[in-house]
Amino acid sequence: MLLYLFITMTYLAVPIAAPDLGRARQQVKAALAAGAEMLELRTDYLENLSIDLVKNLIDEVKEAKGSPIRLIVTCRDKQQGGALAYPQQLRIDVLTTALKAGAEFVDVEFENFLRTENQERIMVALSQSARGRLILSTHNFKTKFENINKLYRSILAAYPGAIPKLVYTANHINDCFEAFDLLYRASGEQIVFCMGEAGLISRIIAKKLNSFVTFASIDEQSTTAPGQLTIGQLKELYRYEHINSDTELFGVIADPIGHSLSPAIHNACFADKGMNKLYLPLLIEGGQDKFNEFLDNVILRKWLNFKGFSVTIPHKHNALAYVQANGGFVEPLAQRIGAVNTLVIGNRASSIEHRASINGYNTDYAAALDSVTSARRGGKIRKAGLKNLTVAIIGAGGVARAIVAGLSDAGARIKIYNRTVKRAEKLAADFACEFASLDDLQDLEAKLLINCTSVGMHPNVDATPVPKEHLKKGMVIFDTVYNPAQTQLLKQAKRKRLKTIDGLSMFINQALAQFKLFTGQTADPKLMRKTVVDCLSRK
Ligand code: NAP
Repeated sequence: MLLYLFITMTYLAVPIAAPDLGRARQQVKAALAAGAEMLELRTDYLENLSIDLVKNLIDEVKEAKGSPIRLIVTCRDKQQGGALAYPQQLRIDVLTTALKAGAEFVDVEFENFLRTENQERIMVALSQSARGRLILSTHNFKTKFENINKLYRSILAAYPGAIPKLVYTANHINDCFEAFDLLYRASGEQIVFCMGEAGLISRIIAKKLNSFVTFASIDEQSTTAPGQLTIGQLKELYRYEHINSDTELFGVIADPIGHSLSPAIHNACFADKGMNKLYLPLLIEGGQDKFNEFLDNVILRKWLNFKGFSVTIPHKHNALAYVQANGGFVEPLAQRIGAVNTLVIGNRASSIEHRASINGYNTDYAAALDSVTSARRGGKIRKAGLKNLTVAIIGAGGVARAIVAGLSDAGARIKIYNRTVKRAEKLAADFACEFASLDDLQDLEAKLLINCTSVGMHPNVDATPVPKEHLKKGMVIFDTVYNPAQTQLLKQAKRKRLKTIDGLSMFINQALAQFKLFTGQTADPKLMRKTVVDCLSRK
């Protein structure tokens, strides 16, 4: 009887997918330099495939490093996502040759392995190889498997020593939980993750749940599957080396998510503090139902160790509704604003059976007020000076609402100007303010002017929400837009020698407040600012 010793580690494997030996060599070099722990030779990408070519490639890779790197050799069937169509006979020849040449793993499609002629040849080659192992893989490029657990058992029944590899496309982030459940429950070695943008987190969480391998590409141009991250992203942004089963998870819930700077900021601060915590981008498409489903999925799986979330467009209201429906605490002003931008999962049980408590906060309004009043962070108005301060708010969306709530709570006298006047009227009614249309800006009289619209944001950096002739002596101008930090509005205000406050300070203040809610500790604001500025300069 064969005994397998299961080592609970996740190899970071980089696919080598090149059309010829020369380019394969370059990719191998780049992958080794980037810190790959394993290479997957995707021989189905090689033009003029032959067993000699594969043998040469394996020999070269094995000689390329002092201590030989582990190799998976794959010759993927075109029907299972292979690059070039090669006959089955040749594909099996390649794999048996690879085992003879010292590859540690060969990857065979489960469906093809079930064919007697293939199975016999693979089994013979495995029995003659000192250390060769079999990965039996199956892919669904469209959607989830009909019954992933049954499929997993069938693979193991076909060859108990195999490492099952089950990969499917997640069409929504909620599709990932089946993969997580399988990884969590199954003992032994397996590779399970999801493809597609919605499946991205499964490639990172794979390490926490001890998937045998996770795959990453050398760079964005050489990905071999949708949603694959680069080795640089995994290691630098997501601190791959530090992830283990105890890692606590956090993330930003948004749609779209690609632009978010929050993973970079929070992960940099977790690293700075040496915390075993990881912050993920969580793309939640759909409305309240999908949002609720995601949080239910997370809360019911305590072992995933999710502890908190930043919440942004379009889910801030959904977050509030979720906390209210689940008996959690909502910060009173967040309730008045009608938006929660931070969720914290508590250790206490909630009033609802078997559930952890979940609490909601809004760090936007306090962050904005702090930007205005904290001299240390570039604020220009004393806190006590907010009472009866005349304020013009431009915009009537989510950010305007949070700032109006905070300022009206502090006793400021506010007038809201908005393109859609009805929206300004509604917001003004909720917080007992005045309102006007943008045409009335010519009569603007205010000590503090705050732009809460997206006007002036990248790429329309020459636009300004307030014509320069309306900026008057003695005004303080605060632009919540942070990309770019120096907007046209702020540049024009500076030319008139007015005091200015940039949106970066608000952005950083709200992230600092979230970090405190998540960890109880204070993050380094300079590190946060540097991370944001670096990210923006790369975009
Ligand atoms: P939102 O709810 O979509 O509201 C957008 C606001 O901008 C609305 O008042 C809208 O007017 C107005 N607007 C959009 N395009 C306009 C145009 N061409 N001319 C005039 N008004 C226009 O968005 P939000 O969540 O409040 O975010 C607004 C901005 O705040 C963002 O774009 C971002 O730059 C900034 N922000 C900053 C931070 C920070 O931490 N610094 C955080 C979040 C957001 P209508 O009502 O007429 O559509």
